[in-house]
Amino acid sequence: MIRFASLGSGSSGNALLVESGATRLLVDCGFSLRETAARLNRLGVTPGDLTGLLVTHEHSDHIGGVFRLARRYGLPVWLTYGTLMAAGAAADGADCRVIDSHDPLAVNDLEVLPYPVPHDAREPVQYVFSDGALRLGVLTDAGEATAHLRAMLSGCHGLVLECNHDARMLAESAYPPALKRRIAGRYGHLENQAAADLLASIDASRLQHLVAAHLSEHNNLPELAARVLAAAVNCEEGWVGVADQAAGFAWRQLG
Ligand SMILES: [Zn+2]
Ligand SMILES: [Zn+2]
Repeated sequence: MIRFASLGSGSSGNALLVESGATRLLVDCGFSLRETAARLNRLGVTPGDLTGLLVTHEHSDHIGGVFRLARRYGLPVWLTYGTLMAAGAAADGADCRVIDSHDPLAVNDLEVLPYPVPHDAREPVQYVFSDGALRLGVLTDAGEATAHLRAMLSGCHGLVLECNHDARMLAESAYPPALKRRIAGRYGHLENQAAADLLASIDASRLQHLVAAHLSEHNNLPELAARVLAAAVNCEEGWVGVADQAAGFAWRQLG
């Protein structure tokens, strides 16, 4: 059995909790120590209950709170060499363990399968989690879908999938042209329709949970993301979850 929940998702901070048995991994932490403890508390978890942290990349909405949390509670941090280099002195004193972006690692009850993604960071990865029977795929912060990424997410029982922006809302926004190009570019963020196209191109037949994540506060709406994902897998719009910046989302269970 795998359970997962979000402490918050979006450009102001991300953290996703994945649990199997007594193993609890936090994927990214873009929140302060105090904020992280408060958000974990909503899910019935204390920082001391965590087994460790996994980092996707060095952008502050993902890594901002990682090392302080790790040092305070003596937690290991798994991350790629590129991410560690990019983190620099911020990582000093933390128990950092370098992973290869293609090598699975076992953390007690969870198998963690990292995979590289196109994004404007040094060595960004995303993760698939497995308890041996069930698979949870996580993808945020990817500029475009790749064949490898599709293969990793295909056949998963749960998906947390980036729906960063609505292409038209971004184009019509007040963002400066360079920022618009960065976000919409190959090393930026997945827009709603690109996420839906990705979903339609993989085996989604086992999906028990589908959650849209990392929504832009300015250039997206939860109902737009839910609508396009629902259309891609032919389900009710209300069945698609949407991760919120403030509230994250409550525990969801695969099994
Ligand atoms: Zn991000
Ligand atoms: Zn990023």
